[in-house]
Amino acid sequence: MSDTQSNFDLVVIGSGPGGYVAAIRASQLGMKTAIVERDRLGGICLNWGCIPTKALLKNAELYRMFKKSEEFGISHDNLRFDFPKIIDRSRAVADKSEKGVAFLMKKNNVTEFSGTARLTDANSVEIIDDSGTVKDRARANRIVIATLDGIPYWFIALAARIFPAAVFWQSGQTKVAGWHLKPSAIALFQNEYQLPLIDPAIAAHASACSEHVFPILLVIGFATRLSALALLLMTAVIEIFVYPDAWPTHGVWATCFLILIARGPGLLSLDHLIARKCARTSNRA
Ligand SMILES: Cc1cc2nc3c(=O)[nH]c(=O)nc-3n(C[C@H](O)[C@H](O)[C@H](O)COP(=O)(O)OP(=O)(O)OC[C@H]3O[C@@H](n4cnc5c(N)ncnc54)[C@H](O)[C@@H]3O)c2cc1C
Repeated sequence: MSDTQSNFDLVVIGSGPGGYVAAIRASQLGMKTAIVERDRLGGICLNWGCIPTKALLKNAELYRMFKKSEEFGISHDNLRFDFPKIIDRSRAVADKSEKGVAFLMKKNNVTEFSGTARLTDANSVEIIDDSGTVKDRARANRIVIATLDGIPYWFIALAARIFPAAVFWQSGQTKVAGWHLKPSAIALFQNEYQLPLIDPAIAAHASACSEHVFPILLVIGFATRLSALALLLMTAVIEIFVYPDAWPTHGVWATCFLILIARGPGLLSLDHLIARKCARTSNRA
């Protein structure tokens, strides 16, 4: 085992699409570059995410086409699939991608370190093997950490659902006593909020109702995009007509809602469960 120290202009930690592309470009621009990877070159995308899943999807597409082939005048008997063979094909596609990245590293003179990188200071990295032993050390003027996409989206979406939901829920709770609207809630809309075009009593009821229903939907992840849109509209109303000075706070809520509207509620949600069930049912049909 070697425990040497090498000097570089740049060390990239993580060889996913973020890392290996950065390493290649840095090397092309004349920097002495190294990349550290603890698993397989190419990261999640090439080894487990984008590429092998698309290989699996191709199988699903072919199977579906065969199932519908009668429509095209093509008939067959005994259509079956061999799951281990399907997985083997997807792994072979991933292996080929990994080899492609290894080739690109060599072609572009990027030094590869295999192991887990640990920063010891702003310019130094230790490379640790599976047994926990430091097998290499590298110093660099700059270090890029290209591993942050590992934060799963379900976690981000859950945070974006729970925290803004709690804000609206707490606001809703101040307007009710049990199942009834407090008179002070109507007075609030009458005297302080003074929304245009809408009767204060109706506005107070609608607001208290929305501030309870949509947060619940958001937390359980049911009709998430619709709930996020409704709360985004409420945020816009509050920002425009009630508290314009609170734009930084409203901006944070709006950002969470926009993420949910654009990218959905994530895996930990009823919407996701329902979508999976519907997909299974339609595949069986
Ligand atoms: C099932 C699935 C399907 C996907 N499909 C698509 C798609 O179709 N299109 C799309 O655009 N995106 C897709 N993605 C997302 C895509 O995989 C990521 O956006 C992409 O991998 C992010 O690249 P990255 O370089 O930031 O990080 P990653 O690909 O996560 O790579 C980070 C690398 O860093 C390594 N690493 C972490 N810590 C250390 C350390 N301390 N030392 C050394 N190495 C370390 C890891 O082993 C990993 O190889 C999919 C993801 C999944 C899970």
